[in-house]
Amino acid sequence: MPLPARLSFAGASDTHCIAVRQGEAAMVGQVLAIPLGDHHVPLLAPVDATVRILTQDRGSFRIHLQPSTAAIAAEAVERHDSLTLASLVRQVRRAGVAGMGGAGFATHRKLALAAAAGVHTLIINAAECEPGLASDAYLLRYDAGRVALGVRALRRALSLNRVVLAAKQAYRIAGVECVRAASNYPAGDERVLVRQITGKQPMGALRPIDMGVVVFNAATVAAIGDAVRNKPLVHRLVSVRGPAVRQPRVLQVLLGTPFEDVLAACGTVASGLRILEGGPIMGRPVEPDDGIGPATTGVWAEPPGGQPVRYPCIRCGLCVDACPMDLHPQAIWAASTKQALGEATLDDKALTLRAVDGCTGCRACDLVCPSHIALASRFLALQNSRRQQAAARKAASAALARFKAHQARALSRQARARAGVRQGNESAADIHAVLAAAKRRRGRS
Ligand code: SF4
Ligand code: SF4
Repeated sequence: MPLPARLSFAGASDTHCIAVRQGEAAMVGQVLAIPLGDHHVPLLAPVDATVRILTQDRGSFRIHLQPSTAAIAAEAVERHDSLTLASLVRQVRRAGVAGMGGAGFATHRKLALAAAAGVHTLIINAAECEPGLASDAYLLRYDAGRVALGVRALRRALSLNRVVLAAKQAYRIAGVECVRAASNYPAGDERVLVRQITGKQPMGALRPIDMGVVVFNAATVAAIGDAVRNKPLVHRLVSVRGPAVRQPRVLQVLLGTPFEDVLAACGTVASGLRILEGGPIMGRPVEPDDGIGPATTGVWAEPPGGQPVRYPCIRCGLCVDACPMDLHPQAIWAASTKQALGEATLDDKALTLRAVDGCTGCRACDLVCPSHIALASRFLALQNSRRQQAAARKAASAALARFKAHQARALSRQARARAGVRQGNESAADIHAVLAAAKRRRGRS
Protein backbone atom coordinates (compact mmCIF):
# COMPACT_ATOMS: atom_id res chain seq x y z
CA MET A 1 0.00 0.00 0.00
CA PRO A 2 1.21 3.61 -0.57
CA LEU A 3 3.08 5.41 2.20
CA PRO A 4 0.38 7.10 4.38
CA ALA A 5 0.42 10.90 4.72
CA ARG A 6 0.23 10.52 8.50
CA LEU A 7 1.02 7.84 11.08
CA SER A 8 -0.76 7.80 14.40
CA PHE A 9 0.42 6.34 17.73
CA ALA A 10 -1.56 6.33 20.95
CA GLY A 11 -0.35 5.55 24.46
CA ALA A 12 -0.94 6.19 28.14
CA SER A 13 1.20 8.34 30.40
CA ASP A 14 1.30 5.66 33.09
CA THR A 15 2.91 3.20 30.65
CA HIS A 16 5.06 5.45 28.45
CA CYS A 17 6.98 8.71 28.62
CA ILE A 18 7.08 10.77 25.40
CA ALA A 19 10.64 11.11 24.09
CA VAL A 20 10.14 13.48 21.12
CA ARG A 21 9.20 17.12 20.68
CA GLN A 22 6.80 18.87 18.33
CA GLY A 23 8.50 19.48 14.95
CA GLU A 24 11.40 17.13 15.71
CA ALA A 25 12.75 14.97 12.89
CA ALA A 26 12.56 11.33 13.94
CA MET A 27 14.65 8.66 12.24
CA VAL A 28 13.46 5.15 11.50
CA GLY A 29 13.67 3.03 14.66
CA GLN A 30 13.97 6.13 16.90
CA VAL A 31 12.15 5.81 20.22
CA LEU A 32 9.03 8.02 20.26
CA ALA A 33 7.94 6.99 23.76
CA ILE A 34 9.99 5.24 26.43
CA PRO A 35 8.26 2.41 28.32
CA LEU A 36 7.84 2.89 32.06
CA GLY A 37 8.69 -0.40 33.74
CA ASP A 38 9.38 -3.78 32.22
CA HIS A 39 5.84 -4.64 31.11
CA HIS A 40 5.82 -2.48 28.00
CA VAL A 41 7.85 -1.97 24.85
CA PRO A 42 9.08 1.30 23.31
CA LEU A 43 7.06 3.04 20.58
CA LEU A 44 9.34 3.34 17.56
CA ALA A 45 9.23 5.52 14.45
CA PRO A 46 8.61 3.14 11.51
CA VAL A 47 10.08 5.55 8.91
CA ASP A 48 12.04 8.80 8.81
CA ALA A 49 9.38 11.36 9.75
CA THR A 50 8.60 14.69 11.39
CA VAL A 51 6.64 14.87 14.64
CA ARG A 52 3.60 16.95 13.66
CA ILE A 53 1.08 16.64 16.46
CA LEU A 54 1.67 15.78 20.06
CA THR A 55 -1.41 15.77 22.28
CA GLN A 56 -1.78 14.81 25.90
CA ASP A 57 -5.14 14.44 27.55
CA ARG A 58 -6.14 12.97 30.91
CA GLY A 59 -3.49 10.29 31.15
CA SER A 60 -3.31 9.45 27.43
CA PHE A 61 -1.30 10.82 24.54
CA ARG A 62 -1.17 10.73 20.77
CA ILE A 63 1.82 11.23 18.48
CA HIS A 64 1.29 11.96 14.78
CA LEU A 65 4.18 11.55 12.37
CA GLN A 66 4.45 12.92 8.87
CA PRO A 67 6.69 10.55 6.89
CA SER A 68 9.44 12.59 5.23
CA THR A 69 10.48 10.09 2.59
CA ALA A 70 8.87 7.37 0.54
CA ALA A 71 11.83 5.12 1.16
CA ILE A 72 11.55 2.79 4.10
CA ALA A 73 14.99 2.86 5.64
CA ALA A 74 17.62 0.43 4.58
CA GLU A 75 17.40 -2.60 6.77
CA ALA A 76 20.20 -3.39 9.12
CA VAL A 77 20.86 -7.05 8.53
CA GLU A 78 23.58 -7.67 11.03
CA ARG A 79 22.87 -11.12 12.35
CA HIS A 80 23.46 -12.52 15.82
CA ASP A 81 23.07 -16.27 15.65
CA SER A 82 24.74 -16.83 19.00
CA LEU A 83 22.42 -14.72 21.15
CA THR A 84 22.11 -15.79 24.77
CA LEU A 85 18.74 -15.58 26.54
CA ALA A 86 19.67 -12.28 28.21
CA SER A 87 20.80 -10.66 24.97
CA LEU A 88 17.76 -11.99 23.07
CA VAL A 89 15.45 -10.50 25.73
CA ARG A 90 17.32 -7.17 25.42
CA GLN A 91 17.26 -7.22 21.64
CA VAL A 92 13.55 -8.10 21.46
CA ARG A 93 12.70 -5.29 23.88
CA ARG A 94 14.79 -2.78 21.96
CA ALA A 95 13.05 -3.83 18.72
CA GLY A 96 9.65 -3.02 20.29
CA VAL A 97 8.23 -6.52 19.80
CA ALA A 98 4.83 -7.12 21.40
CA GLY A 99 2.47 -10.11 20.94
CA MET A 100 1.17 -9.89 17.36
CA GLY A 101 -1.67 -12.41 17.75
CA GLY A 102 -3.99 -9.82 19.27
CA ALA A 103 -2.98 -9.68 22.94
CA GLY A 104 -0.07 -7.22 22.59
CA PHE A 105 1.74 -8.58 25.68
CA ALA A 106 5.39 -7.42 25.79
CA THR A 107 7.35 -10.28 24.18
CA HIS A 108 10.55 -9.78 26.19
CA ARG A 109 8.52 -10.27 29.41
CA LYS A 110 6.95 -13.46 28.08
CA LEU A 111 10.41 -14.71 27.07
CA ALA A 112 11.81 -14.01 30.54
CA LEU A 113 8.78 -15.71 32.20
CA ALA A 114 9.11 -18.73 29.89
CA ALA A 115 12.81 -19.06 30.70
CA ALA A 116 12.14 -18.76 34.44
CA ALA A 117 9.42 -21.45 34.18
CA GLY A 118 11.80 -23.76 32.26
CA VAL A 119 9.52 -24.32 29.26
CA HIS A 120 10.38 -27.24 26.95
CA THR A 121 7.81 -26.81 24.14
CA LEU A 122 7.09 -23.91 21.80
CA ILE A 123 3.76 -23.76 19.99
CA ILE A 124 3.67 -21.37 17.05
CA ASN A 125 0.07 -20.28 16.72
CA ALA A 126 -0.98 -19.65 13.12
CA ALA A 127 -4.47 -21.17 13.48
CA GLU A 128 -6.42 -17.92 12.85
CA CYS A 129 -9.86 -19.34 13.61
CA GLU A 130 -11.78 -16.03 13.51
CA PRO A 131 -13.49 -15.38 10.18
CA GLY A 132 -11.62 -12.93 8.00
CA LEU A 133 -8.10 -13.44 9.36
CA ALA A 134 -5.46 -14.70 6.95
CA SER A 135 -2.28 -12.74 7.70
CA ASP A 136 -0.46 -15.66 9.39
CA ALA A 137 -1.26 -17.96 6.45
CA TYR A 138 0.14 -15.28 4.12
CA LEU A 139 3.27 -14.90 6.27
CA LEU A 140 3.94 -18.67 6.27
CA ARG A 141 3.36 -18.96 2.54
CA TYR A 142 5.54 -16.05 1.44
CA ASP A 143 7.94 -15.18 4.25
CA ALA A 144 8.53 -18.34 6.30
CA GLY A 145 12.29 -17.62 6.47
CA ARG A 146 11.68 -14.93 9.11
CA VAL A 147 9.70 -17.41 11.19
CA ALA A 148 12.49 -20.02 10.82
CA LEU A 149 15.04 -17.49 12.08
CA GLY A 150 12.86 -16.70 15.11
CA VAL A 151 12.46 -20.42 15.84
CA ARG A 152 16.26 -20.86 15.76
CA ALA A 153 16.79 -18.02 18.23
CA LEU A 154 14.02 -19.26 20.57
CA ARG A 155 15.16 -22.89 20.43
CA ARG A 156 18.67 -21.89 21.47
CA ALA A 157 17.74 -19.30 24.09
CA LEU A 158 15.05 -21.42 25.79
CA SER A 159 16.70 -24.86 25.22
CA LEU A 160 13.46 -26.19 23.70
CA ASN A 161 12.85 -29.90 23.10
CA ARG A 162 9.84 -29.52 20.82
CA VAL A 163 8.61 -26.85 18.39
CA VAL A 164 5.12 -27.26 16.92
CA LEU A 165 3.44 -25.10 14.30
CA ALA A 166 -0.38 -25.11 14.53
CA ALA A 167 -1.94 -23.95 11.26
CA LYS A 168 -4.91 -24.74 9.06
CA GLN A 169 -2.63 -26.02 6.29
CA ALA A 170 0.64 -27.96 6.32
CA TYR A 171 3.85 -25.91 6.01
CA ARG A 172 7.45 -27.05 6.00
CA ILE A 173 9.93 -25.33 8.29
CA ALA A 174 13.13 -27.21 9.19
CA GLY A 175 12.94 -28.80 12.64
CA VAL A 176 9.33 -27.78 13.18
CA GLU A 177 6.49 -30.28 13.60
CA CYS A 178 3.32 -29.14 11.85
CA VAL A 179 -0.09 -29.88 13.38
CA ARG A 180 -3.34 -29.22 11.52
CA ALA A 181 -5.54 -26.95 13.65
CA ALA A 182 -9.31 -27.37 13.44
CA SER A 183 -11.10 -24.68 11.47
CA ASN A 184 -13.98 -24.21 13.91
CA TYR A 185 -14.00 -21.29 16.32
CA PRO A 186 -12.16 -21.00 18.80
CA ALA A 187 -9.65 -23.67 17.67
CA GLY A 188 -6.90 -21.02 17.61
CA ASP A 189 -7.31 -20.11 21.25
CA GLU A 190 -4.02 -20.60 23.12
CA ARG A 191 -5.50 -22.96 25.71
CA VAL A 192 -7.45 -24.97 23.14
CA LEU A 193 -4.25 -25.44 21.11
CA VAL A 194 -2.28 -26.51 24.18
CA ARG A 195 -4.91 -29.17 24.89
CA GLN A 196 -4.92 -30.34 21.27
CA ILE A 197 -1.12 -30.62 21.06
CA THR A 198 -0.12 -31.81 24.54
CA GLY A 199 -3.31 -33.63 25.55
CA LYS A 200 -3.32 -31.68 28.81
CA GLN A 201 -5.75 -28.92 29.67
CA PRO A 202 -4.53 -25.72 31.39
CA MET A 203 -7.28 -25.38 33.99
CA GLY A 204 -8.43 -22.28 35.87
CA ALA A 205 -5.63 -19.85 36.64
CA LEU A 206 -2.97 -22.38 35.50
CA ARG A 207 -1.19 -20.94 32.47
CA PRO A 208 0.35 -22.94 29.58
CA ILE A 209 3.75 -21.67 30.78
CA ASP A 210 3.17 -23.47 34.10
CA MET A 211 2.88 -26.70 32.06
CA GLY A 212 6.20 -26.09 30.28
CA VAL A 213 4.60 -24.76 27.09
CA VAL A 214 4.99 -21.29 25.63
CA VAL A 215 2.74 -20.12 22.79
CA PHE A 216 3.81 -17.38 20.38
CA ASN A 217 1.88 -16.17 17.37
CA ALA A 218 3.64 -16.85 14.02
CA ALA A 219 4.04 -13.11 13.34
CA THR A 220 5.63 -12.62 16.78
CA VAL A 221 8.14 -15.39 16.03
CA ALA A 222 8.94 -13.65 12.72
CA ALA A 223 9.41 -10.34 14.59
CA ILE A 224 11.77 -12.12 17.02
CA GLY A 225 13.68 -13.35 13.93
CA ASP A 226 13.88 -9.73 12.74
CA ALA A 227 15.00 -8.51 16.17
CA VAL A 228 17.87 -11.01 16.01
CA ARG A 229 18.94 -9.18 12.82
CA ASN A 230 18.64 -5.81 14.58
CA LYS A 231 15.47 -4.91 12.67
CA PRO A 232 12.85 -3.08 14.76
CA LEU A 233 9.16 -3.94 14.49
CA VAL A 234 7.86 -1.23 12.17
CA HIS A 235 5.27 -2.99 10.04
CA ARG A 236 2.97 -6.00 10.05
CA LEU A 237 0.62 -8.00 7.81
CA VAL A 238 -3.03 -7.10 8.28
CA SER A 239 -6.10 -8.89 6.84
CA VAL A 240 -8.75 -6.41 5.72
CA ARG A 241 -12.17 -8.02 5.49
CA GLY A 242 -15.84 -7.54 6.35
CA PRO A 243 -19.15 -6.99 4.55
CA ALA A 244 -18.34 -3.31 3.93
CA VAL A 245 -14.87 -3.93 2.42
CA ARG A 246 -14.97 -3.73 -1.36
CA GLN A 247 -11.58 -5.35 -2.11
CA PRO A 248 -10.61 -7.68 0.76
CA ARG A 249 -6.82 -8.06 0.99
CA VAL A 250 -3.87 -8.90 3.18
CA LEU A 251 -1.64 -5.81 3.32
CA GLN A 252 1.80 -5.07 4.67
CA VAL A 253 1.11 -1.98 6.78
CA LEU A 254 3.41 0.44 8.61
CA LEU A 255 2.61 0.66 12.32
CA GLY A 256 0.70 3.85 13.03
CA THR A 257 -1.13 3.86 9.67
CA PRO A 258 -4.70 5.10 10.29
CA PHE A 259 -7.46 2.49 9.86
CA GLU A 260 -9.17 4.77 7.31
CA ASP A 261 -6.04 4.67 5.08
CA VAL A 262 -5.93 0.88 5.28
CA LEU A 263 -9.60 0.69 4.27
CA ALA A 264 -9.04 3.25 1.49
CA ALA A 265 -6.31 0.96 0.09
CA CYS A 266 -9.07 -1.67 -0.18
CA GLY A 267 -11.42 0.69 -2.02
CA THR A 268 -13.53 1.44 1.05
CA VAL A 269 -14.56 4.76 2.60
CA ALA A 270 -14.38 4.40 6.38
CA SER A 271 -16.84 7.09 7.45
CA GLY A 272 -20.10 5.77 8.88
CA LEU A 273 -18.78 2.19 9.18
CA ARG A 274 -18.32 0.11 12.30
CA ILE A 275 -14.59 -0.69 12.28
CA LEU A 276 -13.14 -3.46 14.42
CA GLU A 277 -9.49 -4.13 15.16
CA GLY A 278 -9.17 -7.92 14.79
CA GLY A 279 -11.97 -10.21 13.65
CA PRO A 280 -15.75 -9.96 13.85
CA ILE A 281 -16.05 -12.09 17.03
CA MET A 282 -13.40 -10.74 19.39
CA GLY A 283 -12.61 -7.51 17.53
CA ARG A 284 -12.32 -4.19 19.38
CA PRO A 285 -14.16 -1.13 18.00
CA VAL A 286 -11.78 1.62 16.86
CA GLU A 287 -12.01 5.10 15.35
CA PRO A 288 -11.06 5.67 11.67
CA ASP A 289 -8.05 7.84 12.62
CA ASP A 290 -6.64 5.40 15.19
CA GLY A 291 -3.38 3.81 14.11
CA ILE A 292 -2.51 0.16 13.38
CA GLY A 293 -0.54 -1.37 16.27
CA PRO A 294 1.63 -4.49 16.63
CA ALA A 295 -1.43 -6.48 17.83
CA THR A 296 -3.70 -5.52 14.89
CA THR A 297 -4.22 -8.91 13.22
CA GLY A 298 -6.97 -7.62 11.00
CA VAL A 299 -9.37 -4.82 10.14
CA TRP A 300 -13.06 -5.71 9.94
CA ALA A 301 -15.53 -3.18 8.59
CA GLU A 302 -19.29 -3.56 8.54
CA PRO A 303 -22.32 -1.29 8.33
CA PRO A 304 -23.36 -0.11 11.79
CA GLY A 305 -25.95 -2.39 13.39
CA GLY A 306 -28.15 -1.89 16.44
CA GLN A 307 -27.66 -3.72 19.72
CA PRO A 308 -29.53 -7.05 19.76
CA VAL A 309 -32.47 -7.26 22.15
CA ARG A 310 -31.45 -9.29 25.21
CA TYR A 311 -33.83 -11.76 26.88
CA PRO A 312 -33.58 -13.67 30.16
CA CYS A 313 -31.73 -16.97 30.23
CA ILE A 314 -33.96 -19.88 29.21
CA ARG A 315 -31.48 -22.52 30.48
CA CYS A 316 -31.20 -24.19 27.09
CA GLY A 317 -27.62 -25.29 27.82
CA LEU A 318 -26.28 -24.34 24.36
CA CYS A 319 -23.54 -22.21 25.95
CA VAL A 320 -22.38 -25.24 27.99
CA ASP A 321 -22.00 -27.33 24.84
CA ALA A 322 -20.17 -24.51 23.04
CA CYS A 323 -17.57 -23.70 25.70
CA PRO A 324 -14.13 -25.00 24.61
CA MET A 325 -12.84 -24.77 28.21
CA ASP A 326 -15.55 -27.13 29.56
CA LEU A 327 -17.01 -24.37 31.75
CA HIS A 328 -20.67 -24.00 32.62
CA PRO A 329 -21.37 -20.44 31.36
CA GLN A 330 -25.02 -20.53 32.36
CA ALA A 331 -24.18 -21.43 35.99
CA ILE A 332 -21.43 -18.79 36.19
CA TRP A 333 -23.83 -16.22 34.77
CA ALA A 334 -26.50 -17.18 37.29
CA ALA A 335 -24.03 -17.08 40.21
CA SER A 336 -22.71 -13.69 39.11
CA THR A 337 -26.19 -12.22 38.81
CA LYS A 338 -27.23 -13.55 42.23
CA GLN A 339 -29.85 -15.75 40.61
CA ALA A 340 -30.85 -18.90 42.47
CA LEU A 341 -28.86 -21.97 41.54
CA GLY A 342 -31.40 -24.55 42.68
CA GLU A 343 -30.27 -25.94 46.03
CA ALA A 344 -26.81 -24.33 45.72
CA THR A 345 -25.21 -23.01 48.91
CA LEU A 346 -23.06 -19.88 49.10
CA ASP A 347 -19.97 -22.11 48.93
CA ASP A 348 -21.28 -23.72 45.74
CA LYS A 349 -21.79 -20.25 44.29
CA ALA A 350 -18.27 -19.18 45.22
CA LEU A 351 -16.92 -22.36 43.62
CA THR A 352 -18.92 -21.71 40.46
CA LEU A 353 -17.66 -18.14 40.31
CA ARG A 354 -14.07 -19.30 40.80
CA ALA A 355 -14.36 -21.29 37.55
CA VAL A 356 -14.50 -17.97 35.71
CA ASP A 357 -10.69 -17.79 35.99
CA GLY A 358 -10.54 -20.44 33.25
CA CYS A 359 -12.56 -18.36 30.78
CA THR A 360 -10.55 -17.19 27.76
CA GLY A 361 -13.15 -14.65 26.62
CA CYS A 362 -13.54 -16.43 23.27
CA ARG A 363 -17.27 -15.52 23.05
CA ALA A 364 -18.30 -18.94 21.74
CA CYS A 365 -21.05 -18.91 24.40
CA ASP A 366 -22.26 -15.46 23.25
CA LEU A 367 -22.49 -16.64 19.67
CA VAL A 368 -24.83 -19.54 20.43
CA CYS A 369 -26.97 -17.87 23.11
CA PRO A 370 -30.54 -17.50 21.77
CA SER A 371 -31.23 -14.84 24.44
CA HIS A 372 -28.31 -12.70 23.16
CA ILE A 373 -26.82 -12.49 26.67
CA ALA A 374 -23.36 -10.88 26.75
CA LEU A 375 -21.82 -13.68 28.81
CA ALA A 376 -18.14 -13.29 27.86
CA SER A 377 -17.86 -9.60 28.70
CA ARG A 378 -19.44 -10.27 32.12
CA PHE A 379 -16.97 -13.13 32.71
CA LEU A 380 -13.95 -11.02 31.75
CA ALA A 381 -15.12 -8.22 34.07
CA LEU A 382 -15.56 -10.79 36.85
CA GLN A 383 -12.07 -12.17 36.23
CA ASN A 384 -10.70 -8.66 36.44
CA SER A 385 -12.46 -7.87 39.70
CA ARG A 386 -11.35 -11.24 41.18
CA ARG A 387 -7.77 -10.36 40.19
CA GLN A 388 -8.07 -6.92 41.81
CA GLN A 389 -9.57 -8.45 44.97
CA ALA A 390 -6.74 -11.01 45.12
CA ALA A 391 -4.16 -8.21 44.72
CA ALA A 392 -5.90 -6.16 47.45
CA ARG A 393 -5.93 -9.21 49.78
CA LYS A 394 -2.23 -9.82 49.08
CA ALA A 395 -1.39 -6.16 49.77
CA ALA A 396 -3.47 -6.23 53.00
CA SER A 397 -1.76 -9.37 54.29
CA ALA A 398 1.68 -7.93 53.41
CA ALA A 399 0.74 -4.72 55.32
CA LEU A 400 -0.40 -6.82 58.32
CA ALA A 401 2.85 -8.80 58.26
CA ARG A 402 4.84 -5.53 58.14
CA PHE A 403 2.81 -4.13 61.06
CA LYS A 404 3.37 -7.26 63.16
CA ALA A 405 7.11 -7.23 62.41
CA HIS A 406 7.24 -3.54 63.38
CA GLN A 407 5.40 -4.27 66.65
CA ALA A 408 7.74 -7.16 67.44
CA ARG A 409 10.77 -4.91 66.82
CA ALA A 410 9.29 -2.16 69.05
CA LEU A 411 8.56 -4.65 71.88
CA SER A 412 12.04 -6.10 71.70
CA ARG A 413 13.55 -2.57 71.74
CA GLN A 414 11.50 -1.75 74.87
CA ALA A 415 12.57 -5.01 76.52
CA ARG A 416 16.23 -4.28 75.75
CA ALA A 417 15.85 -0.71 77.07
CA ARG A 418 14.34 -1.98 80.37
CA ALA A 419 17.13 -4.55 80.69
CA GLY A 420 19.68 -1.76 80.05
CA VAL A 421 18.23 0.43 82.88
CA ARG A 422 18.35 -2.49 85.29
CA GLN A 423 21.91 -3.20 84.23
CA GLY A 424 22.77 0.50 84.67
CA ASN A 425 21.25 0.52 88.20
CA GLU A 426 23.18 -2.58 89.13
CA SER A 427 26.44 -1.02 87.94
CA ALA A 428 25.73 2.16 89.95
CA ALA A 429 25.07 0.07 93.09
CA ASP A 430 28.37 -1.75 92.52
CA ILE A 431 30.26 1.56 92.34
CA HIS A 432 28.65 2.76 95.61
CA ALA A 433 29.64 -0.50 97.33
CA VAL A 434 33.29 -0.16 96.12
CA LEU A 435 33.47 3.48 97.32
CA ALA A 436 32.03 2.57 100.75
CA ALA A 437 34.55 -0.27 101.13
CA ALA A 438 37.40 2.11 100.24
CA LYS A 439 36.14 4.64 102.81
CA ARG A 440 36.00 1.94 105.48
CA ARG A 441 39.57 0.87 104.66
CA ARG A 442 40.79 4.51 104.92
CA GLY A 443 39.02 4.89 108.29
CA ARG A 444 40.75 1.77 109.69
CA SER A 445 44.17 3.00 108.58
S1 SF4 B 1 -27.20 -20.23 25.89
FE1 SF4 B 1 -28.03 -18.36 26.83
S2 SF4 B 1 -30.13 -18.87 27.27
FE2 SF4 B 1 -29.09 -20.83 26.88
S3 SF4 B 1 -28.42 -21.51 28.94
FE3 SF4 B 1 -26.74 -20.36 28.08
S4 SF4 B 1 -27.06 -18.27 28.87
FE4 SF4 B 1 -29.01 -19.33 29.11
S1 SF4 C 1 -16.16 -16.90 26.68
FE1 SF4 C 1 -17.79 -18.43 27.08
S2 SF4 C 1 -17.30 -20.11 25.70
FE2 SF4 C 1 -15.44 -18.88 25.82
S3 SF4 C 1 -14.25 -19.81 27.50
FE3 SF4 C 1 -15.50 -18.18 28.41
S4 SF4 C 1 -17.32 -19.22 29.13
FE4 SF4 C 1 -16.36 -20.61 27.68
